[in-house]
Amino acid sequence: MSHDPNCIFCKIVAGQIPSKKVHEDGDILAFHDIQPWAPVHFLIIPKQHIVSMAQIGPEHAALMGKMMTLAPKLALEQGCRPYPEGGFRIMVNTGADGGQDVHHLHLHVIGGPRPWLKG
Ligand code: 5GP
Ligand code: ZN
Repeated sequence: MSHDPNCIFCKIVAGQIPSKKVHEDGDILAFHDIQPWAPVHFLIIPKQHIVSMAQIGPEHAALMGKMMTLAPKLALEQGCRPYPEGGFRIMVNTGADGGQDVHHLHLHVIGGPRPWLKG
């Protein structure tokens, strides 16, 4: 599994940096964002070091499907209210123009009672 020793999220996967986990399996880790901007704000990442959505190809379809499938389940577990009154936002910042700061692919899952919308 690819790993970048200088990557902050690879360090979280390796347990070198602590995180508040919400899910872990062989391929995927989900943990609370350290600077939440909504009542619910966690990140879903692949354990392997994939830089961004710009690197995603057909070989990643199953992994991406697994990450997307986890999002609604974890969102409810973390306190998002059910659809349609509740719901959540999934955001994947990609590259400089996409506002990506950490260059290890991550899905933001954001929700909870409004107002919290940013951008
Ligand atoms: P980006 O701007 O790359 O889409 O989002 C990166 C996110 O990672 C930010 O929301 C930031 O708060 C979060 N983050 C950065 N460093 C850490 C960390 O060490 N631990 C956790 N839990 N989140 C982090
Ligand atoms: Zn990484």
